[in-house]
Amino acid sequence: MQANNTTDSASATKKPKVLIVGGGYGGLKAALGLQRKLKTDADITLISKHDYHYQTTLLHKVAIGTLSSRKARIFYRKILNPRKVRFIKDKITKILPDENKVIGNGGEYAYDYLIIGLGFRPDSFGVKGVDKHTYKLSSLNAALKLMKNIENKFKEYTHTKNAQDLSVIVCGTGFTGIEFTAELATQLDELCLICGIDRSLPKLTCIGRSAHILPVFDEKLAQVAESKLKNLGVDIISGASIEEIKEGVVIARECKSDKKLEIKGNTIIWSAGVKGSDIIENSTLPNKKGRIPVNAQLQCEEYPNIYVVGDSAQAKNKDMIHAPTAQLSAQMGDYVAELFVAKLSGKEFERPFTFNHRGTVCSIGHTDGVGVVFKRPVKGEIAAFMKNTIENKWLFSLGGFEMVFKKGQFRYRTSN
Ligand SMILES: Cc1cc2nc3c(=O)[nH]c(=O)nc-3n(C[C@H](O)[C@H](O)[C@H](O)COP(=O)(O)OP(=O)(O)OC[C@H]3O[C@@H](n4cnc5c(N)ncnc54)[C@H](O)[C@@H]3O)c2cc1C
Repeated sequence: MQANNTTDSASATKKPKVLIVGGGYGGLKAALGLQRKLKTDADITLISKHDYHYQTTLLHKVAIGTLSSRKARIFYRKILNPRKVRFIKDKITKILPDENKVIGNGGEYAYDYLIIGLGFRPDSFGVKGVDKHTYKLSSLNAALKLMKNIENKFKEYTHTKNAQDLSVIVCGTGFTGIEFTAELATQLDELCLICGIDRSLPKLTCIGRSAHILPVFDEKLAQVAESKLKNLGVDIISGASIEEIKEGVVIARECKSDKKLEIKGNTIIWSAGVKGSDIIENSTLPNKKGRIPVNAQLQCEEYPNIYVVGDSAQAKNKDMIHAPTAQLSAQMGDYVAELFVAKLSGKEFERPFTFNHRGTVCSIGHTDGVGVVFKRPVKGEIAAFMKNTIENKWLFSLGGFEMVFKKGQFRYRTSN
């Protein structure tokens, strides 16, 4: 009895170890919330595979070269206070929930509480050839690789005269696919001028399974986006299921007519969907395609000392299921930080997580877009302005006005 009491009082004075894995929208917000609000003594560590956070929502611009990677990258050392949150750059390879530790390339990390925010990876949905023959917009490095490829293909064309070098096919007509396609379409004039290519030669095709593009929006708004893209010279194929990707060819089938389609192009981008992290998928944690089912407090019920934020989380309650977005991830990060501030101070915290959906805007180049903001449809320059405001608001939440001035989106210009 005596021995137990001693152990209890010793563990009561021990600093609780809170480990956050993944420094994206969810994990970084959790770390910053704890940095700012936690008054009790705790050992807070953030581990992520790069020493910077990148704005995934801007990757389509990095991939076209309209935004420098320097601007899309925010070093953790600039926003984290090492006296409050320790940052470790490491790639996590295993999560061992039964042993309360995670393994990385650089070592083993024990925890009392774990917050998982390992984000997403592209989902091929079993379509053959996706891994081998397509580019993805899944990270800053992947976006830079795609940028180099497009540049090279356009330059090569002047020697090869191979029309396929100028044909870009985007698989997926959701947010990512449309933002990327539009960004490229608006830059084609300049790219052709630089490479000395006739502007009528490049071909840009966007192909997806849903009946209309941007299925997150209603049909009317999607139509607006579609006509804007068509005006930019983009070929849109909706209602077609992609069956296979071979080198330089996308093979698809029209859902209604069953007609087989073969679209040729030497740059193929896969943006048809995402799933959760393979580290989660390969662990003993309960998960569906790398996403961990969570309760109303974003807790993994099988391992109550594990909380999950962002694209790694899959709500158990149907009312809580929303499309995985940066906005949702950031709000989850804020929530978990609040929960831990209360928990580590010995206070009750019963409020469930609720998502405050402020709106979604899809950019169509730099001066145009469509979206829904506070339940109202927006389009054109107002939408583009709102998109920039959303990005700047995120930067403000990380580092105040200084961060907005350094990294913000101010290149707003009218289309006239
Ligand atoms: C091109 C594109 C455009 C998008 N546009 C929008 C948009 O306009 N609006 C919107 O709301 N959402 C958008 N999204 C979705 C949004 O980006 C994601 O929902 C969001 O990034 C998820 O946040 P997260 O914190 O879960 O993961 P992420 O932001 O992906 O962060 C995951 C973090 O974990 C780290 N990590 C991953 N694996 C490991 C490992 N093994 N070890 C260590 N660290 C690891 C990563 O480096 C990263 O820092 C877009 C997505 C893409 C791809």
